Amino acid sequence: MGVKIKKGDQVLVIAGKDRGRKGKVIQALPKGGRVVVEGLNIRKKHVRPKKEGEKGQVVEVPVPLPVSDVKLICPKCGKPTRVGYKIEGNKKYRICKKCNREI
Ligand SMILES: [Zn+2]
Repeated sequence: MGVKIKKGDQVLVIAGKDRGRKGKVIQALPKGGRVVVEGLNIRKKHVRPKKEGEKGQVVEVPVPLPVSDVKLICPKCGKPTRVGYKIEGNKKYRICKKCNREI
C-alpha cells in the first residue's frame, strides 16, 4: 500500500461510526495503513494521576482509522475520490481519479 493519504488531506469517512463525516488528516501512519483524522473517531481515555493527591483525567483522543475507511476529498474538484498515480521521469504525482488533476 502506497502513501495515498497524506497529512493535511481532507477526507470523507466511508465506514464505521463516523461514516459520512469529513475531517483533516493530522497524522498518516503508512506502516499500519492508518490515518488520524482531526475530531473524528474520538475515544475517551482515562489518564491516571501522576502524583499522589492529583485527580485522574479523561481526555479525548482521536484513534487512527484504517485508510480503507476514508476517501480523499480532491482539493481541485471537491469530490471524494480514489487516488491514482502518474509518473513523469523520476517524479511521481498523485492524481484525482475524478478530474485527473494533480493533487
Ligand atoms: Zn478532482
